[in-house]
Amino acid sequence: MSIVLPTYEDVIRASETLKGVAHRTPVMTSATADRMTGARVFFKCDNLQRMGAFKFRGAYNAIANLTPEQRRAGVLTFSSGNHAQAIALAGKLLGVATTIIMPQDAPAAKKAATQEYGATVVNYDRYKENRDDIAREMQKKTGMSLIPPYDHLHVIAGQGTAAKELLEDVGELDYLLVCLGGGGLLAGSALSAQALSPKCKVYGVEPEAGNDGQQSLRKGEVVHIDPPRSIADGALTLYLGQLTFGVIKQRVTDILTVTDPQLLSTMRFFAERMKLVVEPTGCLGAAALLQGVLPVEQGARVGVIISGGNVDLQAYAGFLTQV
Ligand SMILES: *Cc1c(COP(=O)(O)O)cnc(C)c1O
Repeated sequence: MSIVLPTYEDVIRASETLKGVAHRTPVMTSATADRMTGARVFFKCDNLQRMGAFKFRGAYNAIANLTPEQRRAGVLTFSSGNHAQAIALAGKLLGVATTIIMPQDAPAAKKAATQEYGATVVNYDRYKENRDDIAREMQKKTGMSLIPPYDHLHVIAGQGTAAKELLEDVGELDYLLVCLGGGGLLAGSALSAQALSPKCKVYGVEPEAGNDGQQSLRKGEVVHIDPPRSIADGALTLYLGQLTFGVIKQRVTDILTVTDPQLLSTMRFFAERMKLVVEPTGCLGAAALLQGVLPVEQGARVGVIISGGNVDLQAYAGFLTQV
């Protein structure tokens, strides 16, 4: 079976669909970050996107591309949090009913927000059950369209609009660091980088405990891992998608990993120095740069995507005081 990989044309179409709906989020700089790295660092703040993460981009683009008939049948998805909220909000804006399959242990704030947007939530045990199987079975029974969190052409295209905006706003970059779970954001970002800044080296950054992406890139095929434990709850995916890996293996320079303590230091940096609330997963890209995992040359122009800011306040207080 041949698969059709998304292209930059799909990202352009997504940016038209998202115009006036998604926020064009700000790009922020920090003298401290520049001093720490010797580089010129540009942070694309998608923690300030609608519903608090870049996932709104892909979810809205995917639902907007459904036929009227598909929209009437509704949308089904599985997610550890942000994709769920994104689908719920996009469904509400587009008048489409949504059902979300979520892990029992997903953060309370994410579950509550998803239900507030009007979605129906179905729980599962992520240590025992396979969410793909549950989703496919429900889909068969109900006729709803399944929009997965990353391995979907319109989702990847939507996620690519964040890097597109960043590159349009600041010009060409030497490096682009992207948080990595299942690879929707990384694949989309790589499409935009290749089109708008062809010499830019694009890196994915994932939690050390869940380095399936790194293993996959080194091995040349999608590697599956056991459920990892990390505070980066939006990047606990067990394997990359066929579409995301197809793009990543062609256009991504390498995949790096960071530890939970490195994420904690980075979260504190954002709170203290930049007055930004960033969730652990949203710190992945920045942690690789600020903690020296990826050394860059003096004066290099480095883009970092801050992917989300949805963190349970009680957990956040704990994270900030643990460092
Ligand atoms: C989903 C998510 C990621 C990972 O995105 P993928 O497209 O699955 O790689 C990173 N950060 C946040 C905040 C997320 O919600």
